[in-house]
Amino acid sequence: MVLPGNKGLNGGNNMDELRYQIDLLKAMNQQLSGRDKMYRLVCDTSNNAFLYIVFEKNDVITLGKWDEYFSFRIKENRELPLILDELEEKYILPVREVLFLEKTGRERDVVECCMKNGKTWLEFEVRMNYDEQNVPIDKIICIRDITKFKAQNDELRYMAYYDSLTGLYNRNYFVMRLGEFIRRAEEEHRIVSVMFIDIDDFRKINDGMGLLVGDEVVQQYGQFLGSFSDDNVIVCHMTSDIYCMAIYDPCGNRSVEHIHKCILERIHQGFLLSNGMEIRLTVSIGVAEYPESSKQALELINCAEIVMFKAKAIGKASIQYFDAVILHDFLETVEIENKLKEAIFNKNFCLHFQPQYYTNTKRLRGVEALIRWKDEDNKMISPSVFIPIAEKNGAIIPIGSWVMEESIRHYAEWKRKYGYPLIMSINISSIQYKRKDFVGKLLEIIQKYDVEPGEIELEITESILIEDFEEVKDKLLTLRDYGVKISLDDFGTGFSSLSYLNGLPIDTLKIDKSFVDRVITDESTKIITESIVSMVSKLGYETVAEGVETEEQFDYMKQIGCDIIQGYLLGRPVPADDIEQMLIGLL
Ligand code: C2E
Ligand code: CA
Ligand code: CA
Repeated sequence: MVLPGNKGLNGGNNMDELRYQIDLLKAMNQQLSGRDKMYRLVCDTSNNAFLYIVFEKNDVITLGKWDEYFSFRIKENRELPLILDELEEKYILPVREVLFLEKTGRERDVVECCMKNGKTWLEFEVRMNYDEQNVPIDKIICIRDITKFKAQNDELRYMAYYDSLTGLYNRNYFVMRLGEFIRRAEEEHRIVSVMFIDIDDFRKINDGMGLLVGDEVVQQYGQFLGSFSDDNVIVCHMTSDIYCMAIYDPCGNRSVEHIHKCILERIHQGFLLSNGMEIRLTVSIGVAEYPESSKQALELINCAEIVMFKAKAIGKASIQYFDAVILHDFLETVEIENKLKEAIFNKNFCLHFQPQYYTNTKRLRGVEALIRWKDEDNKMISPSVFIPIAEKNGAIIPIGSWVMEESIRHYAEWKRKYGYPLIMSINISSIQYKRKDFVGKLLEIIQKYDVEPGEIELEITESILIEDFEEVKDKLLTLRDYGVKISLDDFGTGFSSLSYLNGLPIDTLKIDKSFVDRVITDESTKIITESIVSMVSKLGYETVAEGVETEEQFDYMKQIGCDIIQGYLLGRPVPADDIEQMLIGLL
């Protein structure tokens, strides 16, 4: 390459000039082949195969690891389709388009494809150069092996979409796919059902047999539920022992009823664990539907979860369908639960006391302490609403302790001031009663306020007796030893068997308001109430009629021999000050 007009270093001298030009050319040639070598080196060490095609000369150079990729060489542009023969059918067309990129006039394109062996993945990257008239000058095709990268990608995708324990979809992917179902259902006016499935008593397996067994149960259930998945059914493992299914246009074999039936059949067969054990764990299922329950994926799952809790609450092993009443109850419960926490913290409770009178003499026998809660908005929330909620979430423990101390404190004060002997009746929840430290705490309070144990009466309900009769009885005997009175509340609403009463150390039996309500109007209630009172009296217990509202009811209860009367007729539950006024009047 002679640079025109270059006079060289020596100027004028033609021979020198020529020598100089020759040297320069040599040097440049050397430099060129050096650069060529460098390119080759780069290509060889890059692990890729390259094809360099110069159109004018129809010159094709293969570089890099070409031989590791292909068993043939390419000598001209026309032979490029040889590469296509090595590929899986479905990739031929897109790869052809990229290999002959000059036909599109574009400068660069990349395409991925799989080779015929189904294992090796290649990426073709093509770069084109055109001249000023847009005529192709040359092109370079770079071929890379991306098999490893693909595998890593697949693994990442797997991790992002699947749950490793069960191989089912994970929660995130499920929510995404459910969203797709909903969008499709919106367009096609179809229904999408969501089944929220929770294994019953799974904790017992985990706690009793260990996490590994728990994992196996989750896996086996997952495998079984996964068998329902197809284009219209997505199954996911939400967490722990919870699965979710989304069903597009549920009908026939993919109707909720059919799937539920299959689940029941499978449970009946039992799951055989690797330790040889066979288990038949049941499930509780909540079902919600697009568009009725909600139009949003997450909300739909929530709705199904809410009704699943309902299924658990009514005794597990069942299926519940979402409806507005359930949602309303649930939201109310959540609201009360939240407010309850604050109320316990701020001590927003107070006690009212309802008097009880001896039927014959109409003398004041004592009072029943009844809790009252005014929430932040000064709204009165009934104990029949919040006590069951407090029992479920454990709040009954601090509430119950507070009631015990507050009622005994009041009684001690009245006794000190007015000296009138009373019986303070305190409602005790079964949750509270079951606590190991229950008796100790009660005795501590009795001692602290210096009242007689015989002046304290605990109102318990039959539900206490259901679980561990002997343990309950032992506790009752201990309480009796200390002289604390026991009253069986709401008698007639539970399983009400008079036979077990015989062996129980109780003092009083409260006939439920529902009997008193009907005792005048309903003949069979009359007969039952009469026989209860007479038998209970024979057993040596006192009877209390609660909820007496009319003179007629009072007279009737008196006539059949009921000892004590409590009810609006003789006195509503009132604040402590009103009881004090009542006691002052008795002085
Ligand atoms: P309960 O123990 O059966 O209490 C009697 C309920 O009947 C009280 O309702 C009382 O106000 C109401 N009552 C009494 N006489 C009449 C009447 O003549 N007519 C009518 N219509 N009602 C009458 P309250 O205070 O709303 O309590 C409801 C339930 O909440 C109680 O039923 C009890 O199970 C529970 N509870 C109340 N206070 C406590 C407490 O301190 N601890 C626990 N564990 N439960 C409590
Ligand atoms: Ca009561
Ligand atoms: Ca009662």
